[in-house]
Amino acid sequence: MSNKILAITMNPSVDISYPIEHLKIDTVNRVSNVTKTAGGKGLNVARVIHQLDEPVSTSGVLGGTIGTFISQQLNTVGLQEQFLHIPQESRNCIAILHDNGQQTEVLEGGPVLTATQQTEFMQHFTSLLDEVSLVTISGSLPQGFTTDLYAQMIEAAAKKDVKVILDSSGDSLVAGISGEAKPLLIKPNQEEIAQLAGRELTDLADLQDVLLNEDVFNGLDWIVVSLGKDGALAKVGQEIYRVAIPKIKVVNPVGSGDSTVAGLAVGINRHESIPDVLKTAMTTGMLNTMEKETGHIDPELFDEYFAKVSVEKL
Ligand code: ADP
Repeated sequence: MSNKILAITMNPSVDISYPIEHLKIDTVNRVSNVTKTAGGKGLNVARVIHQLDEPVSTSGVLGGTIGTFISQQLNTVGLQEQFLHIPQESRNCIAILHDNGQQTEVLEGGPVLTATQQTEFMQHFTSLLDEVSLVTISGSLPQGFTTDLYAQMIEAAAKKDVKVILDSSGDSLVAGISGEAKPLLIKPNQEEIAQLAGRELTDLADLQDVLLNEDVFNGLDWIVVSLGKDGALAKVGQEIYRVAIPKIKVVNPVGSGDSTVAGLAVGINRHESIPDVLKTAMTTGMLNTMEKETGHIDPELFDEYFAKVSVEKL
């Protein structure tokens, strides 16, 4: 059986960054130092998995000239591209970095897809499942696809004994964990857990209580709640684990949740022990925050930071 990971991004983008000293409204702004990169949470996940030398491919839906750009960028970094190609254009997401650290974003909604395209995607996805041992699903759904798409994907994966890690939010997360087939793991942050549980969480004891006792979490083997600089709290089976991380110098925290998902996927795919899976995930999360580039780690630093993470069973 294959041991490849498939990282899903349903609505990828070309992320355009415009650094402008001072943003002027209702007039022309000229920009010289433009960067354009293939973006999307699942693509960040795939890049970090690739950097850890674990076999990985990418899928989702893309199209048009923007889709071609994304596809080429993935090929350039040696990432296998197995997206469903559609006639509609994928989207651009623009971030204007201006006026001493302000960030103004313009985000396109992306293509509006049809019910037929959803069926095509499910067929495509189901065929890819034959080649993989684990799937990560990250981010939001494209317009036109039904909210239960992730639930359908999880069911298709369960039929083929393929594990699923789901990192989503809102309705697609609720639908994803409400079906009969469950993802192996979800990685909500504190805000998402509070939303799922339907109540405010005041402290870690509260969080622990919710993880152990709320019905919405029934049947999920792993729930890893990432807590930024405070590490993570995880429920695995009926056990709670507190994961502590060292204090580090943060350069750019964007994409650290995605890098954490990458670490979880790699650790689980390598059949690491529970504490080691959690340590791997915290290490990839931390290493991402130490880099300027989103969804990027320095693998040379892995062992040093892995050794600094501690896991305690509560
Ligand atoms: P998300 O981006 O999904 O909200 P978090 O902010 O919880 O996720 O970050 C995921 C992981 O990245 C954390 O568990 C931690 O390992 C690492 N991380 C994020 N922010 C920091 C920080 N300020 N200092 C150290 N590690 C961090």
